Amino acid sequence: MIDEFNVLAGGEEISRPQQQLEAAVVTGAAMGIGRAISARLIADGIIVIALDRDPAALELTAAELGDSFVPVVGDVSVWSDHEHAADVAEGLGVLKYWVNNAGIDFPGAAHEMTAERIERGTRVLQFGAMFGCSIAVSRMTEAGTRGSIVTISSIQGTHAFPAYYVYGAAKAAVIQATRSIALDYAPYGIRANSVLPGCIETPMTYTTLPVGMDRDEALRREGELSPMGRVGQPGEVAELVSFLLSDKASYISGAEFTVDGASTTRAFQYPPIEL
Ligand code: NAD
Repeated sequence: MIDEFNVLAGGEEISRPQQQLEAAVVTGAAMGIGRAISARLIADGIIVIALDRDPAALELTAAELGDSFVPVVGDVSVWSDHEHAADVAEGLGVLKYWVNNAGIDFPGAAHEMTAERIERGTRVLQFGAMFGCSIAVSRMTEAGTRGSIVTISSIQGTHAFPAYYVYGAAKAAVIQATRSIALDYAPYGIRANSVLPGCIETPMTYTTLPVGMDRDEALRREGELSPMGRVGQPGEVAELVSFLLSDKASYISGAEFTVDGASTTRAFQYPPIEL
């Protein structure tokens, strides 16, 4: 964003353009898809406020991505941690972008749940993104910023996967919350879209691979579930997020985009869950 400001040069007041930094809050930025999004946005010239609950991983990523990656330790299931990230962003530039990315793998079928487990998963996977959207639009409208929000959902938000009861429901909910944001804040120049990855090679995915199997072999087998015959890479999600946040996507809002190697074009045949 370019703002005019006045300076005194040789006693004469002249007007010079001042480059104001554009800032993005990216949640879950320390690793995986969030890390790739952060690297891509930094390459776009954006300063990234990296909200993540893992201080050690944040430190490692900050060392790799440099000064434009600003670590903020916090938990997306805590409202005030989002407020803190927004404060940091506004202290460094114009808070123009917000990426709700943080998530956890949360397997389990309905009969395996308790009230406490459902609440715990929902707090991170659903409330985390909803808190982020609420705070983003509050700050953007207060500042009069024409901002852009991306929420990382999942193909599990539109298609049921075996024994992912809470995860799938939360990922569906955040798609709808993002549509709601797009509708309500379009008149204020704010856009909001959801990105639905398929299987992407990240630390989260490693935790879901069969124990005892070589990682490459496990990823190869996982990749075979996709018509493209491979898993995706975090950078392939980050490219889309960068585009959706940018003014190049100026008429795109309230939409959902899969990054899944065509996986959701067909229905998978899984064996029944074991009771
Ligand atoms: P990851 O586990 O590799 O990285 C997630 C990051 O989020 C970590 O840095 C972690 O510390 C952080 N985080 C987790 N819970 C947090 C919390 N409560 N508060 C703050 N930070 C938190 O995961 P990923 O695979 O990169 O996933 C990123 C997003 O993409 C998630 O929302 C996930 O559900 C979604 N997704 C991933 C895949 C996949 O195949 N990897 C597929 C579809 C959707």
